[in-house]
Parts: sequence; C-alpha cells; structure tokens
Amino acid sequence: MSLLLINIKSLLQIRPAAVNRVAGKAMAELPQLEHAYLLIKNDCIADFGPMTNCPEVTQHEVIDATDRFVLPSWCDSHSHLVYAGNREQEFVDRINGLSYEEIANKGGGILNSADKLQKTSEDELYTQAEARLLELIAMGTGALEIKSGYGLTLEGELKMLRVIQRLKANHSIAIKATFLGAHAFPREFSANPSSYIDLLITEMLPAIAQENLADYIDVFCEKGYFSVADTIKIMQAGANYNLTPKIHVNQFNALGGVAAAVAHQALSVDHLELLTPEDIQALQNSDTMPVALPGCSYFLGIPYTPAREILDANLPLALASDYNPGSCPSGNMNFVVATACIKMKITPEEAINAATLNGAYAMGLAQTHGSITVGKKANLILTKKMPSYYQIPYAFGTNPIAQVILNGKVIA
Ligand SMILES: [Zn+2]
Repeated sequence: MSLLLINIKSLLQIRPAAVNRVAGKAMAELPQLEHAYLLIKNDCIADFGPMTNCPEVTQHEVIDATDRFVLPSWCDSHSHLVYAGNREQEFVDRINGLSYEEIANKGGGILNSADKLQKTSEDELYTQAEARLLELIAMGTGALEIKSGYGLTLEGELKMLRVIQRLKANHSIAIKATFLGAHAFPREFSANPSSYIDLLITEMLPAIAQENLADYIDVFCEKGYFSVADTIKIMQAGANYNLTPKIHVNQFNALGGVAAAVAHQALSVDHLELLTPEDIQALQNSDTMPVALPGCSYFLGIPYTPAREILDANLPLALASDYNPGSCPSGNMNFVVATACIKMKITPEEAINAATLNGAYAMGLAQTHGSITVGKKANLILTKKMPSYYQIPYAFGTNPIAQVILNGKVIA
C-alpha cells in the first residue's frame, strides 16, 4: 500500500538519519523543501523531493496538499495520560486563592488522583485513557510517553502500567511507559517515608520488571516529595532493571537534582522552571535532554522554563505537554508549541524542533520518529491551508491541523 502527498507547500523538518537531536543555535534552523512530494510505503516514509521529480500519480493513492504544510507529528515525551476522574474542584480552589500546598493539605493534589485511581477498575481506567489518547492523536501527537504514579501501591502501579501496555497494543501511536512510583509519598507512609522507598525498590520494581511493563523510571525530585538522595537511590535501583531515568526536577526548587540525574545518565530532565548556573553546567556535554512543560507553567501560573538561557548555553531543548489532571489538564501540543513561542520567547523553528525531533530523543524514539527522513515512520501532520507555518503558534487556540497520518494511514 502506498500513499503519495503532492503539491506540498513546504515539507518541514527534513533531517538526515544520523541527526538525533539539535541544540543551541542549530535549533533556529528548520530544514524544509518547498513545493514538494512525499511518498509513503506501508508505514514508513519511502521518498520525498521537489514536485519536479514527483513519481507517477496513477500508481498510488494521492492527497493533494496544495497550500498546506507537512511536518512530522508531535512527539510528546512527558505525560500522565492514565488517570482516574478529574480535579476540577482544585482548579476552582486555586482560582479562589488557595496555594498548591494548601490544596494538597485539603486532600487534593497527587494523593487525590491516587485515591480516585484505587477506586477505579482497570477497564474503566483504560476507557478513560483511551478517549484522551484518541483526542491527542487527532491533535497531531504521533508519539507519546505515559507515566504511572497515581497508584502508589504495588497493585495500583501495576494497574496503571498494564493500562499503558493495553493502549500500546491497541493503537498504532508509538508509546513509551515510565514507572513513576516515586511521584508522592502515600499518606500511610507519612511517618516513615523511607519504608515507601523500600517498598518501591524491593516489591514494585521487581514486579514491573517481571512483566516488562516499563521502559523508563521517573522520580519527582522536589522539596516535600523525594530528596536528591532518594532520587539517586531510586535511579540506582532502576538501573538494576535497565530502566533509564527521566526525572521531574527543578519545578519549584533547585536542589541539585539535575546534576544527579545527569550523573546517572538520565535521558531527560523535565520541568526546570528554576535553573541555576550549576544545573546548566551539569547539562553541558551530557546526553541528557532538558524538557520544558509550558502548559504546566501556564495552568499553575508558575515561572516558565528559561528556554533562551538553555539555548544560549548551546544545550538542546524539548517541549512536552505534562498532560495530567492537576497541573496541566490539556495534552494539546499545538498549544504547547504556541505557548513556548509566546511565553518562553523561542521562535517557531526552535519550538517545532523541540516538539518533534528533540521530543523523540527524550523518549528514545529519534531513530524512528521526529523528522522527515526516509525510513522513519510516516507519522505526519498535514496543516490546513495557511500562508506560513508561523500560523501554528501565532493563531494560538486555533486548530492548525486538517489531517494526521499515523504509520502511513490517514487517521483524521
Ligand atoms: Zn509530570
């Protein structure tokens, strides 16, 4: 089966296979080809080039992309898509002036989601998550990382991770699973938090490894949650099961978690709303991808990750949604890209690089996703007719997408 896109106004994010991420000044460049064709065979990009070299159209199913842009699907490397119910009440509490801490003390926050999850069956959890996943696919997400972390018991964490595996089995979108048992301390461990870490290491990790339920391990390294020492202990335990770290760090406080994560070969460090010169230095010459989550900053009204500082230090940057019920109840990557441009002052080219190739890198998918490259998965966004791709961030809140292609098939 083959599909030929013709008359593409411009094909964006064309990269050689060897480029697995872009950093610093190079992020300002978005390689593209105007008036192009792209040929899909089976589920992969088979060929592309200028329309003057376009293959014979009668051989293939054809989409005419006149006045439309084609780019790789969004690669969202940080989400909490699997959760039970919602937390609208906390949203209203915050509007009424309560702080994150006050809401947590009122029984809100991560533990509220954990309570809801305990009461929800695996099938119901799957049904809720699948509806969100289908919505994300229609909004252009073509690869997604999903974390556990609302279980906080052996059974609860296994339930979440099994739901992620079912989503992976039943849908053609690329999914990576991350074990985030260290998201918060359950109430029953408040007097003795270290025994929760023991449970996580001695019971949860072996059970998860036995069912092969996770690709990565994550820790919420933050004051009142997991210390840098806890984070190191959990990263080391994860390494025994070949789980590479992807760490929540520097959301509210810079405690030294960035350097610890880099020292333990973390694939990514995520949040970074606060960033010290020591953090930047730790990231230099490392393979760790800094990930910004502007939707969370927008929703909570907290500072944005200092993207310009990161790029000026010649570091790479990825953008992800942080889709979750408490601090970012939206997984719309078009909005994330727009918010990064508007609030973090990065250019559309930098934002698109951050949300495609660098996002793929931040979940270990850069060999197969994140760019227009022969042999990569044909996961593509076809925009509506628009004068320039600047429209994607500029006309924020407007859906820029006319069609999405996932593994070579037109989805919407
Ligand atoms: Zn998160």
